[in-house]
Amino acid sequence: MNYDYIVVGAGPSGIFFAYEMLQLNPNKKVLLIEQGKAVENRHCPINEVGKCVKCERCNITCGFSGAGAFSDGKLSLYDENDDDIHVGGDIHKYIGVDKTKELIDYVDDIYVSFGADKHLEGIDYKDEVAKIMARAKKENISLVNIPIRHIGTEKSHDLYLKIEKYLLANNITIEFNTSVDDLIIKDNTIKGVKTTNLITKNKNEYYAPVVILGVGRKGANWLSDMCLKYNIERTSGIVDIGVRYELSDKVMADINKYMYEAKFISHPTPFKDKVRTFCQNPSGFVASEVYDENITLVNGHSYKEKKSNNTNLAILVSHHFNYPFNKPIEYGRNVAKNLNSLGDGNIVVQRLGDIYRGKRTWPEELENNSIKPTLKTAVAGDITYALGYRTMTDILEFIRSLDKVIEGFANPDNLLYGPEIKFYSNKLTINNNFETSIKNLYSIGDGGGLTRGLMMASASGVYLARYLGNK
Ligand SMILES: Cc1cc2nc3c(=O)[nH]c(=O)nc-3n(C[C@H](O)[C@H](O)[C@H](O)COP(=O)(O)OP(=O)(O)OC[C@H]3O[C@@H](n4cnc5c(N)ncnc54)[C@H](O)[C@@H]3O)c2cc1C
Repeated sequence: MNYDYIVVGAGPSGIFFAYEMLQLNPNKKVLLIEQGKAVENRHCPINEVGKCVKCERCNITCGFSGAGAFSDGKLSLYDENDDDIHVGGDIHKYIGVDKTKELIDYVDDIYVSFGADKHLEGIDYKDEVAKIMARAKKENISLVNIPIRHIGTEKSHDLYLKIEKYLLANNITIEFNTSVDDLIIKDNTIKGVKTTNLITKNKNEYYAPVVILGVGRKGANWLSDMCLKYNIERTSGIVDIGVRYELSDKVMADINKYMYEAKFISHPTPFKDKVRTFCQNPSGFVASEVYDENITLVNGHSYKEKKSNNTNLAILVSHHFNYPFNKPIEYGRNVAKNLNSLGDGNIVVQRLGDIYRGKRTWPEELENNSIKPTLKTAVAGDITYALGYRTMTDILEFIRSLDKVIEGFANPDNLLYGPEIKFYSNKLTINNNFETSIKNLYSIGDGGGLTRGLMMASASGVYLARYLGNK
């Protein structure tokens, strides 16, 4: 079975590759191989069942549009007065800032043409944002404020369905429920992939002169195995470990109104590790998602119409390792496994005040807490048993400093859910056109560590399609 391009993974990076190739060269045969379902068949049963049932392939992270389908759909744009890019990954380090901005504009227009909200958040309150920035600076915290286009969790699903229909109607082939098990590599050159259909269990081989890996964080573990097996060059990078923090909308009212999503970054003492807020969801809901080997991680959503009274955001600490241990993925997975065990396979939640008091949170305390948890399946417990001293100190110091910028940020009733972990750490070595050390094997999106968000993942797909399409 021969194609011009095989793309492993139908997340935003893979589907934007296919979309752009269609615009440039509709005669090219593009095959997307996706282990999950078509977007219209993706459904997470957690609300009906009341707990995560650990679907064989997590519907939150697998299927057409990957982790994008149930994401909050916040498209991070850029600050036009800034000659650097601070959010979403490293594309600009390969192709330059101007080219990246041009791609972001292009991708943004496509999202709008498929139904994303035309309104942009974070551009109307420059003076108010400047005041918050000044307060943050006094606490050695920097604030990145960029325009955000908020699609909303329920609308993301519809939007990606339109893209799926468009691609299928234009002869892009998509093999759903099919996992790529192995790569076919000869003389350091990619030749194709080996697959299993997860329903029929049929095994297949597909061939193409070019294979593109768009496997996302879901596929990071598989990719790591491929790197070991075929000596694909990579660096071990970092892993971001932390918590999902939930607090009252009232405390976050100004930030939510002026910026929608504020990205605070600092390096608290004594460790001076990078600590940052990420993925803020005003009036949102805390969510869980399942990765390989049933590892359950926490995340957050916010809908366009369905609202809670709480804001949630991630507080993440970057972990670097060197000698003699340099396996960030393994470290992160071990933290997650320990925390999952403490929650009997579920996300663990603890009140900030209980951490200060040196005690776990009990279910009845959670019930009477002024901040009601929006993730109903989370189990009250003690996250400090599993998050290391260094990670916890970084998080608590960060919360203490941010309380001086946002009054109430350190309210003892605020909730910490764990584990929130971003496995960006399997960073493939790629050239400026995203080609790996294996000839004609390219990597786009989050999986190989190039990007960290919807916009940049999508932009990486467009860039590669243009590069290969014009070659
Ligand atoms: C709950 C949640 C909320 C989020 N909210 C936001 C947000 O608001 N804004 C933002 O910018 N980002 C957000 N993100 C992150 C964003 O979704 C990702 O950055 C983006 O989807 C990455 O795109 P990708 O194409 O690199 O990978 P993914 O979207 O992860 O897609 C990869 C696909 O590859 C498939 N795959 C992996 N390995 C294989 C294999 N071996 N064989 C076949 N298929 C395979 C997977 O099933 C998956 O469908 C969120 C993520 C989650 C989980």
